[in-house]
Amino acid sequence: MRGNIAIDGPAGAGKSTVARLLAARLGYLYIDTGAMYRALTWKALRQGIKLHDNERLVKLAQETAIRLEDRGARGIAVYCDGEEVTAAIRQTNVSRHVSLVASVPEVRQRLVKLQREMATSNRVVMDGRDIGTWVLPGAPYKFFLTASLEERARRRHRELLDAGQPVELKKIKEEIRRRDALDSGREVAPLKPAPDAIIINTDQMTATEVVARLLTLIDP
Ligand code: C5P
Repeated sequence: MRGNIAIDGPAGAGKSTVARLLAARLGYLYIDTGAMYRALTWKALRQGIKLHDNERLVKLAQETAIRLEDRGARGIAVYCDGEEVTAAIRQTNVSRHVSLVASVPEVRQRLVKLQREMATSNRVVMDGRDIGTWVLPGAPYKFFLTASLEERARRRHRELLDAGQPVELKKIKEEIRRRDALDSGREVAPLKPAPDAIIINTDQMTATEVVARLLTLIDP
């Protein structure tokens, strides 16, 4: 039996690459929920909204149209109120502040509603932090990808270099450590594996190897 696939894990564990490849392979829609929180954070920063002003953030979440466009093997394009923000939401300023925005319960409520809607009209591979525990608790396949902090920082470093954004490895490591602590420690929908998730350590694996492994677990 096939059905929706939930992929969770900390920053830099390889979720997005794996989820994108897996979705393309299965012909499912890929939904990057982190991109949705990032798009909202990008807009809040651009509007100069104080990120501790929860009321303002909730209003912003309600009035913002976030759209993901699955471009298959080329990844997804992200639109915020019709403007393409695919590259802008990966900037370090957004990475630094996104966990704060994502910790507001009513902001999450609004984005989770959109995420669940997408998963009812399509078969999806959805990646994030709370997909198996909260967004799609009934998904038949739940995976939790992990890797050491060192390896995750190295991967993120390479990605940023490839994107023409050189940042010190040490800074990335600190940033990831901080973000994981905020994401795991928040009250609402914290980062953690669902009790029925299969946990996979990707330290010694390439994305292609992880996808191959997941495929054997999905359709043995
Ligand atoms: O996946 P990515 O690293 O792009 O996610 C950015 C941030 O969005 C995470 O650090 C987390 O704070 C938030 N997020 C979340 N719940 C999700 C996906 C992302 O809180 N399902």
